[in-house]
Amino acid sequence: MTANPLRDPRDKRLPRIAGPCSLVVFGVTGDLARRKVMPAIYDLANRGLLPPGFSLVGYARRDWEDQDFSQVVHDAVRENARTPFREETWASLSEGMRFVPGDFGDDAAFGTLAKTLAELDESRGTGGNHAFYLSIPPKFFAEVVGQLKEHGLTDSHGDSWRRVVIEKPFGHDLASAQELNRIVEEVFPPSSVFRIDHYLGKETVQNILALRFANQLFEPIWNRNFVDHVQITMAEDIGIGGRAGYYDGIGAARDVLQNHLLQLLALTAMEEPVSFSPDDLRAEKEKVLSAIRLPADLAGSTARGRYTAGWQGGEKVVGYCEEEGIPADSTTETYAAVKLELDTRRWAGVPFYLRTGKRLGRRVTEVALVFQRVPHLPFETTATEELGQNALVCRIQPDEGTTVRFGSKVPGSAMEVRDVTMDFAYGGAFTESSPEAYERLILDVLLGDPPLFPRAREVELSWQVLDPIEEFWATQGSPEGYAAGTWGPPSADELLARDGRVWRRP
Ligand code: NAP
Repeated sequence: MTANPLRDPRDKRLPRIAGPCSLVVFGVTGDLARRKVMPAIYDLANRGLLPPGFSLVGYARRDWEDQDFSQVVHDAVRENARTPFREETWASLSEGMRFVPGDFGDDAAFGTLAKTLAELDESRGTGGNHAFYLSIPPKFFAEVVGQLKEHGLTDSHGDSWRRVVIEKPFGHDLASAQELNRIVEEVFPPSSVFRIDHYLGKETVQNILALRFANQLFEPIWNRNFVDHVQITMAEDIGIGGRAGYYDGIGAARDVLQNHLLQLLALTAMEEPVSFSPDDLRAEKEKVLSAIRLPADLAGSTARGRYTAGWQGGEKVVGYCEEEGIPADSTTETYAAVKLELDTRRWAGVPFYLRTGKRLGRRVTEVALVFQRVPHLPFETTATEELGQNALVCRIQPDEGTTVRFGSKVPGSAMEVRDVTMDFAYGGAFTESSPEAYERLILDVLLGDPPLFPRAREVELSWQVLDPIEEFWATQGSPEGYAAGTWGPPSADELLARDGRVWRRP
């Protein structure tokens, strides 16, 4: 029986401690490894959730010895770990660190990797259990999986296991995702493939399931009879930073909408799963993704923008086309919005508006259910001028929590009603800080616990939604400009205005 993803991994009665294993990280010199993956491994060690002989193998194109790699991990941990630095944790973790220098095309280096893992099995008792984390540019996923197979690294013996962790984006359209699924699942059984969508590792994303299925209060109104529409937002205030090479040609929709936003939509819209086993949970999400209907009028139901120079946080910032490494003829969008509908009994006729963008007003991710107006207001018209629609907002990040917006009487002799909010904040309700998404997900990989990882069909269904939109946008030339620090292009506002609605200003 697979563990329930809602179970608190810190639960003292049911500790989830990984068994003996090694984790090989490809791309250890990269941004993600430094900022998220290596600090998360340390945090897991610090929380006592890694086994005593746990070993970390770095693979990269550097002329490093084990101690050079260990120093790089040390610096990354010091800079980015969530939990305090403890010499004792570090000493035990660093003992199991090894480094293998090489390019992905280097057969000899993969041979060395195989020997290194065998040596660790012997010396540190890692038991032939190896996870391979591909924190590398997506164009190399297939090559590295092929190399692992070629060098016998995917063959497990007896009770031992081999697993692969693949970062997003998984493909760049349906055809490439299908091809990558085929290549990966020819080598690893589906249960050993862990496709990362780090949003699913966030406590607040999992809390959507808790909110809906552990309470009597919300689920009865979580449907078309009460909900007017849903807004799912992931806004970033930063630009592309130094990641022009990765971002240009991918854009906001492929980078965020296809994965994070559609996963949030699936969790928000799905039916109660029979259980939280991987198959039951993912089957419900897949039903939602299969039921998504694209509007016939893509011009009127999607918006696409690109930031221009502007002001952010009191600083003048350049536009996307002036960022270093962006070609003059780029047509990549940094903002994407889309209106989707679901052909299900629960949601028929309820629009789901999804938006994401860089250099927006502020960094925020949220799912907001906006409720229908009451059928009748027994007040003077002037008394309800400041009354909006009720809303329930799952605040994914930052300021994690839940907000309910409703009308309340304004103190005074008149019967005036105005919107107020009731807030639940994680920070105020729980003493322990939430683990980082990567801590949760890496631990799940080492435990072989897959519910929080999308399976092949989910990824393909998501691309099936996005492909026609991308094809349409490809005929539309350059995206519309929006000044950095604002909330996106005018066409995004028009998208909702056409339906008599407005975006929330989170
Ligand atoms: P990155 O900074 O460009 O790092 C890529 C890594 O791959 C580097 O360590 C690089 O080594 C290595 N590499 C590239 N070509 C290689 C080759 N031929 N042989 C050996 N190593 C090679 O990328 P990243 O931002 O860390 O992203 C890694 C993955 O995570 C990508 O799939 C990305 O889409 C995904 N992701 C990243 C983020 C993020 O915030 N960064 C967020 C979500 C998902 P060198 O130093 O030798 O070039």
